[in-house]
Amino acid sequence: MFSIFLENRQLIVEKGWIVSEPESPRWWGGLESSEEIVISSILVQMTRWETVSEVIENMKRMGYTDMRNLASLDEEEILSLIRKVNFSKTKAKRLKALAVEATSYSTMKDFVKYGLRNLEGIGDETYYSLLLFVGNEAQFPPSEYGSRVLSRVTSIKIPKRRVKEIVESNLERDLFKYKLFHSGLVTVGRSSCFKEPECGKCILKMICKLNNNNEALRV
Ligand code: SF4
Repeated sequence: MFSIFLENRQLIVEKGWIVSEPESPRWWGGLESSEEIVISSILVQMTRWETVSEVIENMKRMGYTDMRNLASLDEEEILSLIRKVNFSKTKAKRLKALAVEATSYSTMKDFVKYGLRNLEGIGDETYYSLLLFVGNEAQFPPSEYGSRVLSRVTSIKIPKRRVKEIVESNLERDLFKYKLFHSGLVTVGRSSCFKEPECGKCILKMICKLNNNNEALRV
């Protein structure tokens, strides 16, 4: 499956993942810094990437992708910056707490590794995604898309909580490979493996058991 993602990197790019050098921040929608990635991970929940990108660009222009500057704002001021995203009030509260916590670490990598885990709004998927894309640690993020696509391709029900261990025991622990594999799964989930899958246009259709055997597993 990894080689299919590699061959179809153009589709992955079209879905917003910039296939780059293993340690580059640009994988995450072309953003340019760890701070922008962390802020966007809060903003993107239940919100279109295009809206998040616009809000981040505006925050950047005003200097508020710098964690110290962001931490100096109160929740109302943060809310006025992010009003375009869904659930902006809750997210403003979370961003304020996140920025304050982040300023107590000397690097974003340390913050992601040690300070992020217990903040409100940070589940396993966000935590491990940031550990991979900001911390540059080869830890595979468990995602809903990963669960759905892998379950259908293998015809074995793989719940979200098991995606991490299953991928890690089958794919060489390598930063580039983990980033590409995660972005590939998310891309397939966003482009064809919908609740009602559109297998005809899927890059995994040749190897997918659900598509080839018409097996009844629907997740
Ligand atoms: S072939 Fe169909 S079921 Fe299989 S991963 Fe692609 S869209 Fe999903």
